[in-house]
Amino acid sequence: MFFASDNTSGVPAEILAALNRANEGYARGYGGDEIMVRVRDHLRAVFDAPEAAVHLVATGTAANALALATLTPPWGAVFCHRHAHIAEDECGAPEFYSNGAKLALIDGAHGKITPAALAEALATTGASGVHGVQRGALSLTNVTEAGTVYTPAEIAALTKLAKGYGLPCHLDGARFANALMATGSTPAEMTWKAGIDAVSFGGTKNGLLGVEAVIFFDPAKAWEFELRRKRGGHLFSKHRYLSAQMEAYLEHDLWLRLASHANAMGARLAQGLLAIPGVALTHPSQANMIFANWSQGGHARLQAAGAMYYDLRPLPDGRETARLVASWSTTTEDVDSFLSALRG
Ligand SMILES: *Cc1c(COP(=O)(O)O)cnc(C)c1O
Repeated sequence: MFFASDNTSGVPAEILAALNRANEGYARGYGGDEIMVRVRDHLRAVFDAPEAAVHLVATGTAANALALATLTPPWGAVFCHRHAHIAEDECGAPEFYSNGAKLALIDGAHGKITPAALAEALATTGASGVHGVQRGALSLTNVTEAGTVYTPAEIAALTKLAKGYGLPCHLDGARFANALMATGSTPAEMTWKAGIDAVSFGGTKNGLLGVEAVIFFDPAKAWEFELRRKRGGHLFSKHRYLSAQMEAYLEHDLWLRLASHANAMGARLAQGLLAIPGVALTHPSQANMIFANWSQGGHARLQAAGAMYYDLRPLPDGRETARLVASWSTTTEDVDSFLSALRG
């Protein structure tokens, strides 16, 4: 019953087998390996973007911070949700890598920025000329930090506002595959067709040992990104082991099958929780991450049964709250044991 995060799961056998195959013989370092040529072609085909620049890094923090540093000047404001991973969980890396760009935090229910709130933030930033930071970039997250998803139309409505000021738009897709499965949209619809210029295409949360792709739909920024990646210490010497993971992830749509399973387990968990009297969902559950609350005593029963998850701050009325994440390796038995432990 490991629901703390999707990174508590292991790695599918297909990925480990690909690493073993990649371990044969010799390969050029630093992304010059032949597997990377195929990964680049495969991701360009997946995104229907033949010109896209594709690079691999090992963490989502590096992907986000290096992408944003490439998109915004140091005096820029990066508009993002108040609870965005870049704001709360990256130890200031986006500010650090961008030489001090400022995050402009925008409120919004259930992890989502509303067009009205973004319009207001855009209009009031940069209004005092040289004295204030200027508008820099927009960064959205899908699946959001609250477990909800933006549809491509919702993304397009937000990027349109940012583009009105000429701003580039980034998507933190640590759970990109889960968002695709939840919305039934294509990678192109979720990104460049909706105004996204760069995406952090997650792999780790969805089964890799540690690989994320950064994709720029306009290759003009590719060289700057490469310099920033090297300078930031994120260009891997034995790069073939990153490429091999990503190749196996894409092959036969493994990435989509893993995410669809994680979402199905998330849905089973959410439905099971709602069927327990006194249990409520804190945010609508749309993918593989569930926020729930229940009356006092739930944590004690679950923890006695060995369940692992984040218990969050209680609600003002004392109700206990939790974040639960299902992954590619979550089983129906895991979900059902969790539910019966909570039921008590
Ligand atoms: C996990 C996660 C990341 C990446 O985090 P790392 O620990 O740096 O790999 C980025 N964004 C979101 C929304 C995440 O959940």
